Amino acid sequence: FGKSDVGVKDQSTATKNTLSPDYLINLDHGDPTLFEPYWRKLGDKCTVVIRGNESMSYFADPSSFCWFLEPRLSDAIQSLHRVVGNAAVEDRYIVVGTGSSQLYQAALYALTSPGGAEPVNVVCAAPYYSTYKEATEYLSSGLYKWEGDAYTFDKEGAYIELITSPNNPDGTIREAVVNRGDGKLIYDLAYYWPQYTPITSQTDYDVTLFTFSKCTGHAGSRIGWALVKDKEVAQKMIKFMEINSIGVSKESQLRAAKILGVISEDCQNFRAVGSENFFEYAQRLMSERWEKLRDAVKNNPSLSLPKYPQEFCNFTGKYTEPHPGFAWLKYKESVDLRDLLRSQKIITRGGERFGADANHVRISMLSPEDVFNLFLARLSSLE
Ligand code: PMP
Repeated sequence: FGKSDVGVKDQSTATKNTLSPDYLINLDHGDPTLFEPYWRKLGDKCTVVIRGNESMSYFADPSSFCWFLEPRLSDAIQSLHRVVGNAAVEDRYIVVGTGSSQLYQAALYALTSPGGAEPVNVVCAAPYYSTYKEATEYLSSGLYKWEGDAYTFDKEGAYIELITSPNNPDGTIREAVVNRGDGKLIYDLAYYWPQYTPITSQTDYDVTLFTFSKCTGHAGSRIGWALVKDKEVAQKMIKFMEINSIGVSKESQLRAAKILGVISEDCQNFRAVGSENFFEYAQRLMSERWEKLRDAVKNNPSLSLPKYPQEFCNFTGKYTEPHPGFAWLKYKESVDLRDLLRSQKIITRGGERFGADANHVRISMLSPEDVFNLFLARLSSLE
């Protein structure tokens, strides 16, 4: 999470207090606390009771391919993807992880082989999710090596390309850019949910990562999942999980299974009863926030935001605009925008961390409401 967190108040408790004028606004991480009011409103509908004698074993289902995956979570994941229509689940292996962060490492392990002459190059089109670089480099692995921007990659040999769509930090829809036969692709679809972007197709990639964190906002449960086509790749990912953490918390999996199950059911019943399901709620919230942000930015000629095309969303049956989880804000001149905003007590992540320029920052759109409103007020008064 980085040094900038030190001394900053927990954002999730911020709503309980009135924010003082010198409150330090931390929009560095995408901590998705904005959906909390929705889950509070559901009350006990999502409560899970786990007795002292339950879920004690390392195993969730010893006879199953992924022996630490709770069958209820596997069912809930499949049913949610079918309802939303964002990914094919038929004949896919599901691997659960402690967040999709752990599955990223598992996928790198699975797509490389020990004993290779050179570490496999790992690339991603800039601006890229800054944690990829950090997670790829921090163990100084002999299996793989961070090579940075996929647009400028020209080395021979095997490579792995990461594709984040919609992209973190800039919200764009992406495809692979290197497109050579010796490449393996990892698709990170953390934000391919209706509240962030129109669902335009059912994706069907070799390795796809999803996370509970961004789908529902339950980042604290640390649950992610991979949809994997190839049995050997899935087997190697499971092996990684076995060595790395002997599986994934059963308590977290059961909570995720309950919540994802409730969403699927509500989405299926929605058309019949006409009440607002989670994605409808979340989409409305994101759209309101983006409208307010665009209004604030409009009044400052030095600032700009990316524009996104409207597309038909197969899930909502309407034309909708993307409302990314992060705002990729640009300053017209070559100013260090992160420093400029820091002087207004707004912490953001600077463009260089994403392989871009310092006149860009990434701003989380996922904070509690009062933090977001204070951010808008400070942004509006920026000279
Ligand atoms: N991929 C992307 C693109 C993300 O933005 C994030 C969270 N910031 C992750 C993966 C990691 O999510 P998790 O909480 O599942 O580890």
